[in-house]
Amino acid sequence: MSILKVARMGNPVLRRRMPPLDPAEIATPAVQRLIDDMFETMREYAGIGLAAPQVHEDRRLFVAGVDDPDGGLPPIVMINPEVEPIGVQIEEDWEGCLSIPDIRGRVPRPTDIRVRALDRHGAPQRMTAQGFAARVIQHETDHLDGVLFFDRMASFDSLTFLQEYERFWDEADRSR
Ligand code: ZN
Repeated sequence: MSILKVARMGNPVLRRRMPPLDPAEIATPAVQRLIDDMFETMREYAGIGLAAPQVHEDRRLFVAGVDDPDGGLPPIVMINPEVEPIGVQIEEDWEGCLSIPDIRGRVPRPTDIRVRALDRHGAPQRMTAQGFAARVIQHETDHLDGVLFFDRMASFDSLTFLQEYERFWDEADRSR
């Protein structure tokens, strides 16, 4: 496996809409290796999710997952995902992005979603997700449409560097 180079904000690859991945391609060594490399890259940089355009691959897929005793996310691969909100509840919470290093901002997102996608074996998966998992899935699916989390912010008042986040916001956030 290898660690891939992550595209940073300003790179046009992050603004492209990714074409659907042909299901016949999913089993190929190229795609299987890409998925493994994306997991390795995500873990190397302590990310929670990583979408193919972030590693310069024009493919409609992302990986996500994080170990966290306070509620993690099991490893998931989503190919050609389609996200649909359930209900109208919106919640604002902090997001960061491996393509926008050391910056955080608060992003409103639907709290409950329904997702349809293919898994890494090409099998259809349907799931519902809430809260943190729903937020990660929406963030990563946005990458496949060339959308970054800044685009979803209701206001830039909360935009903060990581160091200032830890100094001024993290404590307040935890006590919410
Ligand atoms: Zn991101």
